[in-house]
Amino acid sequence: MRDRYNRSINYMRLSITDRCNLRCRYCMPEGLRDKLPMPALLSYEELLEIAAAAVRAGITRFKVTGGEPLVRLHAEAFIGRLKALPGVEQVTLTTNGLLLSEKLPALRAAGIDGVNISLDTLDAEKYREITGYAELARVLRGIEESVASGIPVKLNAVLQRGVNDGEWRALAELARTRPLDVRFIEMMPIGYGRKFPAVYNEELLQRFRESYSGLEWDERTHGNGPAVYIRIPGFQGTIGFISAMHGKFCGACNRIRLTSVGKLKPCLCYGESVDLMPILRDGGSSGDIERQRRLERAIREAVAGKPEAHHFEHISEITEEKEMVRIGG
Ligand code: SAM
Ligand code: SF4
Repeated sequence: MRDRYNRSINYMRLSITDRCNLRCRYCMPEGLRDKLPMPALLSYEELLEIAAAAVRAGITRFKVTGGEPLVRLHAEAFIGRLKALPGVEQVTLTTNGLLLSEKLPALRAAGIDGVNISLDTLDAEKYREITGYAELARVLRGIEESVASGIPVKLNAVLQRGVNDGEWRALAELARTRPLDVRFIEMMPIGYGRKFPAVYNEELLQRFRESYSGLEWDERTHGNGPAVYIRIPGFQGTIGFISAMHGKFCGACNRIRLTSVGKLKPCLCYGESVDLMPILRDGGSSGDIERQRRLERAIREAVAGKPEAHHFEHISEITEEKEMVRIGG
């Protein structure tokens, strides 16, 4: 499906819960709010109805996110059903990794195509400081087991000045002996992220250049996203940069985002969304086919409303007020 700037939109992020088993301070700090009651969230059946309509509109790739998607009961089974929908080419997951080890066999059986695991630090005390929980060892185990299973793995690290920005090299070194991508995501001024000054990837790339010789841009396609990658001689994996603040990648944006309460967001920066919940819960007045038509129309409407670019660089223009945990990243 093309939007009005002729971008091809084929990728949808599905947030399946607003709950999380961590409290990352830039996303969902302790004491943030009460969680939404379960009936307020889209059921798996409703999510699959939306996914089916999205496929008809031209979406072929889905990323399952949260909150923390693996805290929702039977997330693995949902992933299997999503993957089995006709026309779905790829289903991947973004997770904090805490439950990965135990869910890995079921995720593999469900046909998962890749996992993105968030890891901001390799220091156990800092991990607790950033996420609120002393769970680094569990995450590391989930990463090692995912790599060993052969699933494509990407690690996502958000650096904060004076907190974990000194760890860029240690994090990157994980890709030396493992076939995974280590990606540095610039902190975005969404929700609590506004409180934490971003470490800019341009600056980071300069540090890489000074520390490693023979760096090369890696032109291969690594996934669906806006990351650019470098290769370091001797490394099995690659290093990626997602520069939301400085490297404006909106011209190549291919995505829309569905929140766990059924709001379809054309752009992360703005509060505008198309509400799919009324279509799904209209008291049964429309049949399955009519509901599917209405969902597809609404998805196309959201894509038609996709703005040309975000303006994270002008804080006053950001109209999204939700925290990242409610959007899914
Ligand atoms: N709980 C899962 C996880 O942590 O991967 C999925 C949801 S989480 C919101 C998705 C990603 O968004 C994580 O990698 C997290 O670090 C990132 N994130 C959260 N708030 C952010 C912000 N303000 N700027 C940039 N990335 C952010
Ligand atoms: Fe939870 Fe992921 Fe947000 Fe951390 S970044 S609080 S793990 S949703």
